[in-house]
Amino acid sequence: MRASPIQPTVDFNADGEQHGFLKLPHSHDGSAWGAEMIPVTVIRNGEGPTALLTGGNHGDEYEGPIALSKLAGALKAQDVSGRVIIVPFMNFPAFRAGSRTSPIDRGNLNRSFPGKPDGTVTEKIADYFQRYLLPLADYVLDLHAGGRTLDFVPFAAIHLLPDAAQQSRCEVAMRAFGAPYSMRMLELDSVGLYDTAVEEAGKVFVSTELGGGGTATVKSVAVAERGVRGFLQYARILQREEARNGMSDDVSRTTTLLDMPDGTCYTTSEHDGLLELCKDLGEMVERDEVIARIYDATRTGAAPVEYRARRGGMLAARHFPGLVRTGDTVAVVADVVERGIPVTV
Ligand code: ZN
Repeated sequence: MRASPIQPTVDFNADGEQHGFLKLPHSHDGSAWGAEMIPVTVIRNGEGPTALLTGGNHGDEYEGPIALSKLAGALKAQDVSGRVIIVPFMNFPAFRAGSRTSPIDRGNLNRSFPGKPDGTVTEKIADYFQRYLLPLADYVLDLHAGGRTLDFVPFAAIHLLPDAAQQSRCEVAMRAFGAPYSMRMLELDSVGLYDTAVEEAGKVFVSTELGGGGTATVKSVAVAERGVRGFLQYARILQREEARNGMSDDVSRTTTLLDMPDGTCYTTSEHDGLLELCKDLGEMVERDEVIARIYDATRTGAAPVEYRARRGGMLAARHFPGLVRTGDTVAVVADVVERGIPVTV
């Protein structure tokens, strides 16, 4: 396969702190010989494991970009053993536009793996992560949130994996992240996900959903910051003492384990209209309980359509905007497996 057109301006094997770019040539009307300059930070201190930390895989999710921008500016080589590679705005064109997908090619980076070196801009970014960055990494953390159309209880997540040993390492890393909730996540379609690419490469991988609505809150950013440091401690890249500095006290010291065992967790809209959620995030739901009503937004006097939970559990995710369309995910109800699990490193 041909080489990637992306050239890093940093040396991944040099010790110290480097702040540079992944330079992706992109010729367009506004810049004939231009490039997309994707910011990257490399912090390295001698031999040791490598953690690859990413945010902005979707451009309208902000906990990752905020927590990783702060980390990139604060972390010093003397603080680490090994190497940390930080890409806070992975799909940089989408991040700059404040949209889930890229304005250049409408590419959804998290559906574009393994990517192509001679494909679209988004496919070129995916290919660079697949063939150049992933092979450098032992531990991979990808920070997501709900974006403009979803909202979540804050959780770190892993998937069920065919390799039990790999899955149990991912579970320990998820607990070290220490979000208020920890989810065994079911994907409706895992094709093209960065998650799948990382897991198939045999890495320890944790993803997150830390809120949503196209913004970030004090609490959700605190969860992200605490989680990134917990993940780096788990990887033995950060020492525990250093990791305590500046850590907020109002973040969770225990986590609740959630599970999405099958497709009945999802409630999908079959109507367009005005959405009334009947439960808030984190509330418990009985099976067959009404969790949402959708009103015909074109007339008065008609009865709303009722949506009932297909299983009992906790409301873990919801549609964020007030209007809903056929095919949108209205709600996700997850099983509560265990509460009050201590966060450990
Ligand atoms: Zn996302």
